[in-house]
Amino acid sequence: MIKDPEKVYIVRCGETALKGQNKPYFERMLLQRIRRVLKDFGGCQAERLDGLIFVRAPETVSREDLLRRVGHVFGVDSVSPAWELNIQDLTDQEALDQVGLAAVAWMKAVAESGSAKTFKVEAKRADKRFSIQSPQIASIIGGKILRGCKVLTVDVHHPDCALHTDFRRGFAYIYDEVISGYGGLPLGTNGKGLVLLSGGIDSPVAAFLMAHRGMLIEAVHFHSFPYTSQRAWEKVKDLGGILTVYCERIRIHSINLLPVQEQIAEKCPPEQMTLLVRRYMMKIARIIAEQTECNMLITGENLGQVASQTAEAIVVTDHAAGMPVMRPLIAMDKVDIMDTARQIGTYETSILPYEDCCTVFLPKHPTTRPRLQDILASEALLDETELIRLALASEEIVTLQPRDEL
Ligand code: ATP
Ligand code: MG
Repeated sequence: MIKDPEKVYIVRCGETALKGQNKPYFERMLLQRIRRVLKDFGGCQAERLDGLIFVRAPETVSREDLLRRVGHVFGVDSVSPAWELNIQDLTDQEALDQVGLAAVAWMKAVAESGSAKTFKVEAKRADKRFSIQSPQIASIIGGKILRGCKVLTVDVHHPDCALHTDFRRGFAYIYDEVISGYGGLPLGTNGKGLVLLSGGIDSPVAAFLMAHRGMLIEAVHFHSFPYTSQRAWEKVKDLGGILTVYCERIRIHSINLLPVQEQIAEKCPPEQMTLLVRRYMMKIARIIAEQTECNMLITGENLGQVASQTAEAIVVTDHAAGMPVMRPLIAMDKVDIMDTARQIGTYETSILPYEDCCTVFLPKHPTTRPRLQDILASEALLDETELIRLALASEEIVTLQPRDEL
């Protein structure tokens, strides 16, 4: 008689497993994140054992829903839906019989679904109290499957189905899928960053990459209403909404930059327009970052992409920030940035053709080799205190709650 196996999801903690003395901390954080994304399903349980996380869910939670949620948690290397058999009170021989019966039942279902004609068994024995060695386990279970499912044959090199049997701390696990997650580090293990979120392709990818390293994300968006439209703002909120799938709750601070742009247009050389505006973005973002306890700014800047992203322009922009600015895309090729945008689901929204505040006062011939002293001289003509006051007075904040799907 086969004992009823329990359904579990085995979650492997990617890089978090390599963190030496910090390992328990990262695992705890990952466990917390997993519990949080599963909370509203009701009745799910997650526990940490032997460097793995085991998730149990009631029948009402579909496999797809659970895998999607857990698969979006940074720090998850992979997930395997599995059967768990309690073999604590069994002799080795009895345990092997039980696992054999379960393996045959599993492979019968696989054969009936038509998804495999060939298989192999991979055995792992973390529990050395179990005296039978892995190669022997694999061959015994493999033999039972061959006898129990006559339509299947063994192919050790390119099997349609690799059935894993893991023996650990009094339990045996059976699974045939190892579904990749995003890896990275659990959210909240590496501070909080304020992303300058435009409606473009780059900045959402930049936010994603920093969150992937464990950074919580807050966002600031600059608009030039009424030159920029409500639809452009909706688009930015949509992008933020997609990011919440990975980054959980995101607050977007919306700031009207028009008074800044108008005064720069009135008082400064037109070729410096973009750079001066970008410096103001940095100055304002820094204040918001300090108010919201962000350790650093994040932008989607990419070396050489446009006039304001030459090496010289970035130096001049950076000078205005007064706090560390992360530019995770700095050395990436645009095609790779676009690929990432497609993978994370922001691309289609990013390419919607709504105006950005930077395009409103776009100079014909922007300077590509600015000198800091020239820019500072122009900036001295502006009423910085008043412009920043006006910008901050226009601030509106929206909070985007975590969304489930893209
Ligand atoms: P993106 O695709 O992110 O819009 P881009 O190639 O259009 O980037 P720029 O417009 O020069 O480049 O902007 C560079 C970076 O400055 C953006 O990635 C973003 O971080 C920030 N930025 C630009 N415009 C805005 C805006 N309206 N609000 C907030 N941040 C902005
Ligand atoms: Mg842009």
